[in-house]
Amino acid sequence: MKVVKEISSMQEISDYYRCTGKKIALVPTMGFLHEGHTSLMLNARERAGIVITSIFVNPTQFGKGEDFGKYPRDFLRDSHICEKAGVDFIFYPEVDEMYKGNALTAITVNKISDKLEGSFRPGHFTGVATVVTKLLNITKPHTIHLGSKDAQQNVVLKKMISDLNIDTELVVCPTIREDNGLAMSSRNTYLTSEQKEDAASLYFILKEGKRMITEDKISDTNIVKSKAAEILSNSSPDIQLQYYEITDNEELEPISDLGKFSGEIVISLAAKCGTTRLIDNIIFEHNSIS
Ligand code: AMP
Repeated sequence: MKVVKEISSMQEISDYYRCTGKKIALVPTMGFLHEGHTSLMLNARERAGIVITSIFVNPTQFGKGEDFGKYPRDFLRDSHICEKAGVDFIFYPEVDEMYKGNALTAITVNKISDKLEGSFRPGHFTGVATVVTKLLNITKPHTIHLGSKDAQQNVVLKKMISDLNIDTELVVCPTIREDNGLAMSSRNTYLTSEQKEDAASLYFILKEGKRMITEDKISDTNIVKSKAAEILSNSSPDIQLQYYEITDNEELEPISDLGKFSGEIVISLAAKCGTTRLIDNIIFEHNSIS
């Protein structure tokens, strides 16, 4: 495994492997890797001859007052994890290498980027879409492997890839969870062990939402949403729900009456556990009753 810090070297390496007919897979990350990231690397390993993991804490996707400065970083530990997962190259640029001062271009996927996470984190998805475009141009992958954990990010990037005719296939892999159901996240390191136990309620209310829709056949989503909020405030009063929304998985449009809806449903939530902000979701198929 090699560590590449320069954009021009990474581009040359990718050009070389493309010329030799090898398939290239990219797993973009912000580092402080866990089993969720490993699952993406193993999935990429199965699909491609060359696996590149990028490790870059991207400043432009953090808002003012967010945790860019304190975001956990441990490159040595990350590089061992990548090596064990069979990664060929880690692309590990400095901020100055990625943003050389005078960039005037940004990518915004309108409408979808303003919903859910976007309403709490203005500009976040422009930062994400722009850095992912740069990473695609630098690593030139045939496939990009992303986790279902960040459902809105996946919807935004899928639309961007389609709208801009980017020749990379997006592969979404399942969310990896702790034994208690808490979705693995680099930010879980901010949580105390009591908070980690408490935060398991978040996955519980997602599963309850799905159960109410698929088993109890409740089609009024306001009923599902208020029941989920009530369960959480009873079981985990220290957790503050920021949103719990039921949408389609194409444009993240809220659905009020499920009776008329067919397709993939996403229930997404964000919540604050102490000072730590957590997101999670559950995705499932739904057929209209008419
Ligand atoms: P991050 O390092 O948090 O920016 O995440 C990098 C990639 O890993 C994104 O595609 C995430 O969706 C994915 N990811 C993060 N957590 C998980 C998880 N628990 N299971 C599966 N994929 C994940």
